[in-house]
Amino acid sequence: MKIELKDVWRVYSVGDLAIHAVQGVNLPIAAGEFVAIVGHSGSGKSTLLSLMGGLARPTRGVVLYDSVDLWKLRDDERSEIRNLKIGFIFQFASLIPTLDALDNVALPVLFSPSPRPKVEVYANARELLALMGLEDKQHAYPNELSGGQQRRVAIARALIHHPAVILADEPTGDLDEENEAEVIRLLLHTRRRYGSALVLVTHNRTLARHADRLLHMKNGNLVYEDLPNRLARN
Ligand code: ADP
Ligand code: MG
Repeated sequence: MKIELKDVWRVYSVGDLAIHAVQGVNLPIAAGEFVAIVGHSGSGKSTLLSLMGGLARPTRGVVLYDSVDLWKLRDDERSEIRNLKIGFIFQFASLIPTLDALDNVALPVLFSPSPRPKVEVYANARELLALMGLEDKQHAYPNELSGGQQRRVAIARALIHHPAVILADEPTGDLDEENEAEVIRLLLHTRRRYGSALVLVTHNRTLARHADRLLHMKNGNLVYEDLPNRLARN
């Protein structure tokens, strides 16, 4: 699936104030592409990711999924795309505390409009947990897991639909270096395995260098782009 943002704006009204969080962004993302986004806090990265994933509606401009305007679809059509095609990984792993790791991973499918057979879903959830190195933690509850382990469960959950696009907002922000490196390695590995595109907001320059494209966000705009892989080869 291809995503394209065309002259996308998002303005928040706070009292009398208009905050221009995203200002006229143009960004095509090809199937399977890995795009890293860096930028200071408040530059609009999280807002941009919400716009890409259909969680926020652009004040102006369009978000196209395979050339279809996401906001011209019916609500249920848009939710279906959001639920089935997009894997969200947020800054803080928001696992459901009363479910074990396996159920947390399987949950999005069990509640989806086109459910798969339970046996198949759980087999896939087990496989993803194993990929994340959590084979022996299937029945652990979130409070029995470390921060890094919780984060890996959240990544497994984001991948349960084999999403065409993974949108990750500083997914390793609260982890120590060792856990961060491990989570990143797993994220890149699973991405390759499922052929998903990955849009990753990160502070980690080492990680950003693995991307096909590195975008810099500043004051709601993408202001600079370099090609890390090409630079690395020179
Ligand atoms: P980043 O992720 O790069 O830190 P954000 O997208 O979170 O940036 O925020 C961009 C700007 O929009 C900031 O000025 C922020 O305060 C503002 N903002 C973000 N979300 C909201 C909201 N729900 N209501 C009002 N202002 C917001
Ligand atoms: Mg943010």
